[in-house]
Amino acid sequence: MKDRFGREHTYLRISVIDRCNLRCHYCMPLHAKFFDPKEVLSFDEIVTVVQVATELGIRSVRITGGEPLVRPNLPELIYRLKTECALEEISCTTNGMLLERFAKDLKDAGLDRINVSVDTLRPDRFRKITRFGSLETVLHGLRRAVAVGLTPLKINAVILKGFNDDEIEDLLKLTLTENVTVRFLELMPIGEALSLNGLGGYLNLTKVRLWLTERYGLVPAEEKGHGPARYWKVPGAPGRVGFITPISDKYCATCSRLRLTANGEIRPCLAYDVHVNLRDAIRRRDREAIAAGIMKALAIKPAGHHWDAGQITQTVMSSLGG
Ligand code: SAM
Ligand code: SF4
Repeated sequence: MKDRFGREHTYLRISVIDRCNLRCHYCMPLHAKFFDPKEVLSFDEIVTVVQVATELGIRSVRITGGEPLVRPNLPELIYRLKTECALEEISCTTNGMLLERFAKDLKDAGLDRINVSVDTLRPDRFRKITRFGSLETVLHGLRRAVAVGLTPLKINAVILKGFNDDEIEDLLKLTLTENVTVRFLELMPIGEALSLNGLGGYLNLTKVRLWLTERYGLVPAEEKGHGPARYWKVPGAPGRVGFITPISDKYCATCSRLRLTANGEIRPCLAYDVHVNLRDAIRRRDREAIAAGIMKALAIKPAGHHWDAGQITQTVMSSLGG
């Protein structure tokens, strides 16, 4: 499935719920407005969309949100995607708060890999940036995920200048002893991230990579994944480090992803409000109309963002399926 710029699309991010048990300052307002539950796609409906999408060329999906583990019976959806859709891989991005409870069920249902968001290794900072999170709870979840074989684990850390940039080396050091991939994310100028009120701001992570390369001798590393991260490692270390640098080292030219929101929209680009609403077609189980909608979303996919030139995106990240 190619868009008008010749980019092949094989990867679908599926937001299974826009709600979340946390309120990270850069992602969600404290009093967020959520979709009417009646608008949220059922598992049957999600499976139908994924079946059509795989016929068009989608090979892998990532389950996200909001917080995907807040969606009741998520392992059932994983199992259905695994057994009823022709997918090569199913992964999930979670904040980890409910991971200890669900890791085994998710693995047993067929989940291949998991990414957990951990911006800081300091409990007080973790609480501050997530508003309600507990680092200890998330670390228990991480251990459980490794124990049940959801490996190699990826950790996502949004780096904010003046908030957690002094922890970059501590996070990198996790890769020296564990078979883990630590990914540093640049802050994207979307919704809540535009007004962080003193909680830090954008940091150029390409510069950080160059600095880490000087200090630790980072060398390129192989890593399975469909996303935009570029991977490196400290020579001899079991783990890897990734950099997601949408602003300092733009990767739009190789973007291979589409997004399905929890209320049935296909969104081809995170940076713009362009979308195709498929909900009626999905509710009618009209596979032809769903396929046509996916192709239309592809046809209107922009070439790329202009965040590097000051563009901002006025929407709530969690409703897009981050
Ligand atoms: N709740 C899950 C979680 O936190 O991992 C999944 C959804 S969350 C929207 C997906 C990812 O987007 C997280 O790693 C989060 O840190 C990241 N994210 C949210 N807002 C962001 C922003 N403005 N810039 C960069 N990353 C952001
Ligand atoms: Fe929730 Fe994830 Fe957004 Fe944090 S980043 S508020 S955990 S959806």
